[in-house]
Amino acid sequence: VNYPNNVKIVEVGPRDGLQNEKVIVDLPTKLKLVHQLSETGLLNIEAGSFVSPKWVPQMANSDDLFQEINQSISPAFPQIQFSALTPNEKGFDRAIECGVKEVAIFAAATEQFSQKNINCSISESLERFAPLAEKAQSANVRIRGYVSCVLGCPYQGSVGTDEVLDVTKSLLDLGCYEVSLGDTIGVGTPGSTKDLLSALLPVIPVEQIALHMHDTYGQALANILIGLQMGISVIDSAVAGLGGCPYAKGASGNVATEDVVYLLNGLDINHGLQLDKLIETGNRICAALGRSNGSKVAKAMQP
Ligand SMILES: [Zn+2]
Repeated sequence: VNYPNNVKIVEVGPRDGLQNEKVIVDLPTKLKLVHQLSETGLLNIEAGSFVSPKWVPQMANSDDLFQEINQSISPAFPQIQFSALTPNEKGFDRAIECGVKEVAIFAAATEQFSQKNINCSISESLERFAPLAEKAQSANVRIRGYVSCVLGCPYQGSVGTDEVLDVTKSLLDLGCYEVSLGDTIGVGTPGSTKDLLSALLPVIPVEQIALHMHDTYGQALANILIGLQMGISVIDSAVAGLGGCPYAKGASGNVATEDVVYLLNGLDINHGLQLDKLIETGNRICAALGRSNGSKVAKAMQP
């Protein structure tokens, strides 16, 4: 087995993680989180989302957050790419006003999830992103794509690899430099992960694919290991395993960054992150949220 020499970790805790936490985090706490994460060696941090505050109250302070990041964090950490999720053109315009240099857009792998989640078909959602993508290109803003429900859908059940391939190709065609495959409900297994990547990798360059695993069924690290074995070198994760799964009560959320780092350490794969600092960061945000740390590594290494 040939593992990649280097893996890029995309930290999604401040956005995907917090978005699915019930306790609303105020701006200073969020800034502290982003600042602490910046000190761990991360190069990619998805910090917020420019959605309607009506729909996602947790993300209501993204404008202020990014202005603060630009003023107080970016100058000290110029190597870090801070990104934001932008569900539409309006959100994109807000993001640009706040100086965001990289945005993420998303589409579902299944029609039913697309309809229930964003009230339109997959192709409609992609069409809506076209003008945003054009604007991004002329503004020199990088776009990252997400596909949700790649290994299972709460409405449709199993998902065909051809469905995922179609959406992934469309997102790349729109100008995404990378597409992150999301196991939104965390039902994937090493078997289904292998099947999916086997269908995608002959068509799509491996450098353009990232894995975004949720640990609902405890399979996230195993799925990531399969991905690494197949050449994937970009992994999304959230410090302390922040987040939850709105489709499975009490389930764990994103795979924990600490746990991914521990896995990579064991494989001698470079990642550039400092585990002790990550653990400290995770413990702090968990204390603020009043929840236990979702990282097994953090729990095991508790002082
Ligand atoms: Zn996630």
